[in-house]
Amino acid sequence: MKISTLLKHNRPLFSFEFFPPKTPQGEASLFRTLHELKPLKPAFVSITYGAGGSERRKTTEWAARIQGEVGLTAMAHLTCVGHTREELRAILQGYAEAGIQNVMALRGDPPKGAGGFQPTEGGFRYASELVAFIREEFGDTFTLAGGAYPEGHPEAVSLEADLHHLKQKVDAGLDFLVTQLFFNNALYFGFLERARRIGIEVPILPGLMPITDLAQIRRFMDMCGASIPGPLLSRLERAQSPEEVLEIGVEHTTRQAQELLEAGVPGLHLYTLNKSPATRRVMENLQGVLR
Ligand SMILES: Cc1cc2nc3c(=O)[nH]c(=O)nc-3n(C[C@H](O)[C@H](O)[C@H](O)COP(=O)(O)OP(=O)(O)OC[C@H]3O[C@@H](n4cnc5c(N)ncnc54)[C@H](O)[C@@H]3O)c2cc1C
Repeated sequence: MKISTLLKHNRPLFSFEFFPPKTPQGEASLFRTLHELKPLKPAFVSITYGAGGSERRKTTEWAARIQGEVGLTAMAHLTCVGHTREELRAILQGYAEAGIQNVMALRGDPPKGAGGFQPTEGGFRYASELVAFIREEFGDTFTLAGGAYPEGHPEAVSLEADLHHLKQKVDAGLDFLVTQLFFNNALYFGFLERARRIGIEVPILPGLMPITDLAQIRRFMDMCGASIPGPLLSRLERAQSPEEVLEIGVEHTTRQAQELLEAGVPGLHLYTLNKSPATRRVMENLQGVLR
């Protein structure tokens, strides 16, 4: 199923994001998680694209298995890192042959220690170039999504410049956007308003992540440039146990989700880190709002 069709229905959709596991234990655990989350009826699940080799081939494999074996619509991510356009064409052909109809087209991050992003010779410098390439070569084969940054992309020279580049990326052929995670809804609402003002009209799904591990989230924040509101951070720092951290994380994401749904967002994208408990708890808490 194409996500662009699902987005036309007038009700919020839910989606969950996973990464391809690296070990057999991780694979078994992801299958368990997928089966535990399936009854929540996500409109789609997305599977990330890694930085190297075998991990990358697993994106196609997992997206196909999610559709064939679990019975959920998948969106496969793809990045420009280390790929020529011929390689990207071959991967996209593989996606189409595997029945994948939805692609998240990204630039990707430079490999660790590489300094800034360097385009591969014969490849692309920006996600907008990848989007234009996919539309040129594959027409409407795929629903195309792109990444958006309510707090600005970490490399952007200014919020205005970032938004201008986002508009170029959407105009190159995106059907919808998914945001980087954020913990303060005011950031999303402000971003949405600025995006609409400059003519970005596609649906923008807010990306939310229930915090379950403070050290892990700090590493994440350093990488993606997103911030944690002071009062939330203090509560997490005072927590006495991992269970208490999870309680605080679930409560905060539930409140964010309720406010976003009440404001009429087209859906919610939940970053799961391949685990089900926090996501399930948030979704259960939302049942009242959804009815
Ligand atoms: C929802 C989501 C999912 C993600 N999934 C993955 C994944 O699966 N795998 C992975 O490796 N990474 C993933 N990422 C991370 C992403 O790859 C990084 O954030 C990366 O640094 C930027 O990718 P992009 O597609 O947003 O880049 P772009 O849209 O190309 O933007 C990158 C930077 O370039 C600037 N820019 C864009 N166009 C121009 C231009 N014409 N001139 C000058 N500057 C310009 C932008 O302002 C921005 O600062 C994801 C991010 C999000 C939000």
